Amino acid sequence: MKAKLLGAHVDALTMEETVGRVSGFIKSGRPRRILTLNPEYLYRAQFDSELMRLLTRADLVTPDGVGIVWACRVAGNPVKGRITGIDLMLCLVEKAAAEGWSVYLLGAAPGVAENAVEKLRCAYPGLRVAGAHHGYFKEEEACRVAEAVRQARPELLFVALGAPRQEIWIDRYLELTGATVAMGVGGSFDVIAGRARRAPGWVQRLHLEWFSRLLMNPSRWKRQLVLPCFACMVLRKYKL
Ligand code: UDP
Repeated sequence: MKAKLLGAHVDALTMEETVGRVSGFIKSGRPRRILTLNPEYLYRAQFDSELMRLLTRADLVTPDGVGIVWACRVAGNPVKGRITGIDLMLCLVEKAAAEGWSVYLLGAAPGVAENAVEKLRCAYPGLRVAGAHHGYFKEEEACRVAEAVRQARPELLFVALGAPRQEIWIDRYLELTGATVAMGVGGSFDVIAGRARRAPGWVQRLHLEWFSRLLMNPSRWKRQLVLPCFACMVLRKYKL
């Protein structure tokens, strides 16, 4: 089931159903894109047709931010809960270890993806890691990076370049990489590698993870200014 929200279609699935859907993608072998949607992205997409196109093109759109879960409820199309990029990545890595799918980590500062790989290998013994590459490459090197992924032949490709750069990169290069499923995961490698901390569970349960990220990284305030604008847009469209 899909929930319609501000021109986007958000998949209303539990985590288990989401992982099941991705398993189906891997079995089909056709290239598929997963977009973890937060309010910032959806707000920008209202004014940027290219971002909306990427959203429409995605094969699976998960409600990443609590703002998306709230907005779907206001729109009268509730989803089943929040599916964050990092939670979905970890569930998929666990499934990959069980099923023998190989994974590739692309993005974050030099060394971070490799650190994240070490942590994942410890947590999920038997995980097949096809490779890792940092995310600080120039536009003219993007093809070479995609080619490096292709040589490694992963099934699952996690891309941590920040939104919307990761979605744009996946849109352009997924076919060239030869990976079956690609997903943008923002700052997840930093968290897995232990370079950044996620808000504690109780803060997440109070739906205040966005606030905690703001406290830990005050430079995010400019980005988070769109949150009240997004809320007003949703209320205007669905309540007034
Ligand atoms: N990043 C990157 N290349 C760049 C810019 C950013 O690999 O040119 C990485 C950055 O190191 C971080 C991630 O992209 O690991 C973005 O994290 P952020 O928390 O900003 O992502 P969000 O989930 O908020 O989009």
